[in-house]
Amino acid sequence: MTNEIRVPAQMLEDFISEIFEAAGAGKDEARAIGANLTMASLTGHDSHGVVRTPRYLMNERAGTMVFGQTVEAVIDRGAFALLDGRFGFGQTVGHQATEDGIVRARQHGVAVVALRNAGHLGRIGAWAELAIEAGLVSIHFVNVANSMLVAPFGGAERRFSTAPVCVGIPNPGGDFLLDFATSCAAEGKILVAMKGGRPPPPGALIDGEGQPSADPEALYGPVAEGAVPDPRAGPGALTAMGDHKGSGLAFACELLAGALTGSGTTSPGSRVHNGMLSIYADPDRFDDGFGWGRAVADYVDFVRSARPADPAHPVLAPGDAERIALGNRMANGVPLSAEIWASLVAAGEGLGVKAPCV
Ligand code: NAD
Repeated sequence: MTNEIRVPAQMLEDFISEIFEAAGAGKDEARAIGANLTMASLTGHDSHGVVRTPRYLMNERAGTMVFGQTVEAVIDRGAFALLDGRFGFGQTVGHQATEDGIVRARQHGVAVVALRNAGHLGRIGAWAELAIEAGLVSIHFVNVANSMLVAPFGGAERRFSTAPVCVGIPNPGGDFLLDFATSCAAEGKILVAMKGGRPPPPGALIDGEGQPSADPEALYGPVAEGAVPDPRAGPGALTAMGDHKGSGLAFACELLAGALTGSGTTSPGSRVHNGMLSIYADPDRFDDGFGWGRAVADYVDFVRSARPADPAHPVLAPGDAERIALGNRMANGVPLSAEIWASLVAAGEGLGVKAPCV
């Protein structure tokens, strides 16, 4: 990263929380947003971390994300619920929806919770981690309505959102946490590249002619000095990961999280929001004595023990990369490009919040 600075985790969380409180969030909600964004940065997901602050503030001012919302139960039938997030901050309504799923799964063994109209749910792994803490397995299909960024396999124009998928399975030797966008790269990774961070991964972008591009402007178009980059503005698109397979998974997310929840599939509309279809299961309920915990632990260790292609890089299980990043960044601070730090300082100044000295 060019001109990188390191910010201690607690200092960063406090600063971001103060910014959201100054913007009008209640103390608890502001803390939840600050903690969630900081944790995304700590676990290495800079694209879903504190870099999002200016955009969240912009969305709140525009009325597309709303502070202080509580999910509304549209349908409440035992193991199934359809919840409306009323465009509340994902850090609030995502938390409420996950808690709801946990309660239902404890009661029924399994639960399906459909969440519509949620403000940005951030790193989806955060919700699987909450379920893991409760001893539950969870699967989450997510779409981003009105955020048409990704070209379908074989297409030269956008049809899908970055539609993340997440699977969480408790494991004392390191929880299994598979959590990724179905686009080759999450949009925020291109945002980080635009702001002087790591360049976009090869093959992640196409230009307006459907040809590979490494230029973030393919997504954002030219961005004026001080303006917040708008991913709708560019002529190109993100690509789906894994060719026709990843493209098919993105398609499934749009249908499961968008069409089946009433949240809406992605389109060129304007109010960007998340839909999420989550499945929760209590693994103790389907264990007849074979010992699911041991079976999971043994297999995760077996996979990790595969001979690495490069001895310097041992095989990792999903969730390991985040644990490694967390350990490193807790010890050494969160790395931010000078440009990202300046955008946070400016966001604070605009609300009368003084940035800490770093
Ligand atoms: P990514 O490409 O970094 O992949 C992350 C996954 O791959 C994790 O499960 C990680 O443990 C695993 N992984 C990483 N390195 C590995 C290795 N060497 N071996 C084995 N597994 C490894 O993730 P991404 O696609 O950039 O997504 C980043 C975040 O963005 C996710 O948290 C996702 O939920 C979030 N997201 C959210 C939205 C939204 O609208 N809320 C949209 C898109 C993405």
